[in-house]
Amino acid sequence: MNGHQEDARLREHDGLGREHDGLGHGPDGLGREHDGLGRGRDGLGYGPDELGRRPDGAAWRADVLTIFPSMFPGPLGESLAGKALASGIWNLTATDIRDFGLGRHRSVDDTPFGGGAGMVMRPDVLDAAIASVADERPLIVLTPRGVPLTQKRVAELSAGPGVILLCGRFEGIDQRVIEARNAEEISIGDYILSGGEIAALALLDAAVRLLPGVMGAMESADEESFSSPLLEYPHYTRPAVWADRAVPETLTSGNHQAIAAWRRDQAKNLTKIRRPDLYNQFVASGAQAP
Ligand code: SAH
Repeated sequence: MNGHQEDARLREHDGLGREHDGLGHGPDGLGREHDGLGRGRDGLGYGPDELGRRPDGAAWRADVLTIFPSMFPGPLGESLAGKALASGIWNLTATDIRDFGLGRHRSVDDTPFGGGAGMVMRPDVLDAAIASVADERPLIVLTPRGVPLTQKRVAELSAGPGVILLCGRFEGIDQRVIEARNAEEISIGDYILSGGEIAALALLDAAVRLLPGVMGAMESADEESFSSPLLEYPHYTRPAVWADRAVPETLTSGNHQAIAAWRRDQAKNLTKIRRPDLYNQFVASGAQAP
């Protein structure tokens, strides 16, 4: 066992996402306390309290490693995810990678070997940050070089104990730490963000809404785009006529079979036009539209 694995073992979690000091913080040694809502006073540590456990008794635990911990929970502190966070269905700890930085300036990056623009995040610094939270949860590096995130992977992650997310900045991350830590590289789409934080928020949002007790009507998850191979049919609500546009007649007919058939056709046609890749998968699978 190498020193990092030992580190990881020593910092065992108590199953609630808190380290043994019970504060759920990065290793800044400041001993900050929670306010009873699972929030650290500095706004960085979000832990479960005595409420709302998952059926197996444990909260879903997310650790984020970032040089911008104040970006968390950000939008995940609102709405369904925010309520679930406050009630302890899941918990979130953002650890500042700079706590593991080197020298007086807590440096986390250096120039790339081989030359080129920008800076690269150092493997030794990142490894120490990872060691401070590592356990049986999957370690995910957010990167445009990663495997595109799918609803299938989101559902798997949501069904597990939680995630550890490493957010890149600058030109990216030294490849050796990704390999040494056997991290999973995930992309949230074919475009370049300025950092992994927004990608981490997107992944967490998608996973948390699938946790038991987070969404009001669980059935609404089943019909969504990507749960089936097809994109979702269009939605309409009142008023029945708006700006000279009437709602499609079938939807106001009260004929449930006709409505289901209309929605199926809409979903198929939209997918065929907009996402031929998904449509071909759908045809090849021989599946029926839901
Ligand atoms: N030079 C890199 C881009 C770096 S962007 C390249 O061309 O591949 C800086 C950081 O933002 C990355 O390290 C990654 O953590 C994050 N990032 C950018 N785009 C992303 C995407 N589509 N999905 C996930 N993370 C992304």
